[in-house]
Amino acid sequence: MRLSQYLMPTRRDVPAGAEIRSHQLMLRTGMIRQSAAGIYSWLPLGLKVLRKIEAIIREEQDRAGALELLMPTIQSADIWRESGRYDDYGKEMLRIKDRHDRELLYGPTNEEQITQIFRDSVKSYKDCPRILYHIQWKFRDEIRPRFGVMRGREFLMKDAYSFDLDEERARKSYQRMFISYLRTFERLGLRAIPMKADTGPIGGDLSHEFIILADTGESAVFCHKALTEIPAPSEDINFDDDLTPFINEWTSHYAATEEMHDEARFNSEVAAEDQISARGIEVGHIFYFGEKYSKAMKCTVQGPDGQMTTLHSGSYGIGVSRLVGAIIEASHDENGIVWPKSVAPFDVGIINLKPGDEAADEVSNRLYKELNAQGLDCLMDDTNERAGGKFATMDLIGLPIQLIVGPKGVKSGVVEIKDRKTGEREEQTIETAVAKIIASHKLT
Ligand code: ATP
Ligand code: MG
Repeated sequence: MRLSQYLMPTRRDVPAGAEIRSHQLMLRTGMIRQSAAGIYSWLPLGLKVLRKIEAIIREEQDRAGALELLMPTIQSADIWRESGRYDDYGKEMLRIKDRHDRELLYGPTNEEQITQIFRDSVKSYKDCPRILYHIQWKFRDEIRPRFGVMRGREFLMKDAYSFDLDEERARKSYQRMFISYLRTFERLGLRAIPMKADTGPIGGDLSHEFIILADTGESAVFCHKALTEIPAPSEDINFDDDLTPFINEWTSHYAATEEMHDEARFNSEVAAEDQISARGIEVGHIFYFGEKYSKAMKCTVQGPDGQMTTLHSGSYGIGVSRLVGAIIEASHDENGIVWPKSVAPFDVGIINLKPGDEAADEVSNRLYKELNAQGLDCLMDDTNERAGGKFATMDLIGLPIQLIVGPKGVKSGVVEIKDRKTGEREEQTIETAVAKIIASHKLT
């Protein structure tokens, strides 16, 4: 992409009302624009990041054996009456009436919708287990939308739902999602720590929130330092194996959100030097809720003995749009965003310091073509802005690698490579620069 032909309305000033760095940076880089309180448009740069996050989540859901479908944003009130949640959900639910006065709602979550689909599609125990997921916009009329996309009213969620014949089998589905989440967040360049969360009236130990440590997090969290160091499960993990040993490795250390925290246990179980008391951002939440919706909505299958049996389910959410903000919170410096390679909107930023200079244009175009041909997505600054402004913009948007093409350098056949994260710069011949960038791209 040539910057002269792109839509990337960057700004230098700190936008009024944006309290935290990720919100400020998303506005300053022109990734998003607010449309109404807690509702955003995603401009081209922001949408690229959102799509990359989505793609990683999708790959890891598929790897774990989950099946993608797509449910609508608008749901009928009827199924929420069936489950008994229509009245309980309260003011966070956006309720709508169509022209025939039928009651609809903009889905805040999809337990009812998926239970209806499963109930109407599946009749036999042979069709279990299944994990189904979609990546779809949700609406919750949050009392205090804030921090940009972190707590929006309209937001993108990946939500999965599992259907099993009994609790023991449901536990296996839960474990699949648990492992899948560890891999997903690792690939997004994040360390998310699974923390025991409240299971409410259902009870049991099957609810975890996945939390990223960050000063701007909305909740206080407490955990053992070891949880920041355990390696995530590798790509060749077999989801059909018993996953219990992996889960145990993660759940044997103390980790709890504010509501679940037990100070006495924390102090006795975790040595003082290993204690982390911090703030956290919830990026995912997995939850086993048993027969809650299946019972109310009569989601049953015929068992091997011919008897009808009520299914056991869980739900598994990831805040896709929240993650864009969370990744920035975890990875920025005083000059702007520092994208992890896996989600960077472009792989390389090429800065042509002097558009119109024949040699600089030629080298810039050549780099752009050769890198693109190798599958690297490049953003080339071919505008007439002054050099200082170009450097600042490139740092602000945080692409992992910058290639700086100046009229002086090209005369002696060299360009400069800058690593955004370390700030290291090196001069290289054009051929070496291309080869190096391609090699480092292939490694990841
Ligand atoms: P929170 O406690 O932050 O309100 P929640 O418990 O209501 O979250 P879930 O219903 O479990 O969230 O939704 C799954 C995921 O969706 C959350 O882990 C979070 O990452 C994301 N999410 C929830 N509410 C919002 C929101 N208002 N804006 C952006 N993302 C959200
Ligand atoms: Mg909430």
